[in-house]
Amino acid sequence: MTTIKTSCPVCGDVELTPAQMRLVVCSRADWSFYAFACSTCHDEIRKPADEEVIALLVAGGVVAEHWAIPAEALEEHDGAVITYDDVLDFALGLDRIDLLAAMIVPRVEA
Ligand SMILES: [Zn+2]
Repeated sequence: MTTIKTSCPVCGDVELTPAQMRLVVCSRADWSFYAFACSTCHDEIRKPADEEVIALLVAGGVVAEHWAIPAEALEEHDGAVITYDDVLDFALGLDRIDLLAAMIVPRVEA
């Protein structure tokens, strides 16, 4: 069985099986990572995975999960930040839309 050696920042060296590792390969290379639960402190340890680390883990039997970032998540936005008042105005505006919609719907008179 393959043993993967890595380290926990608190406990030091850790030995894991491929099944104990999680490898996430992101469409944006610098967001790829591997993670594991430390067998001593039980914390989840997450570390960046560059191409070399990904190749080593896959060769060792770790199954890679592929993660595609939606393009809109990478869009850059400018302008003022939405405030609580903006959200409140929007919610109040929704009430007005309901009233307007109620006025538009024709009533059926018997
Ligand atoms: Zn630990």
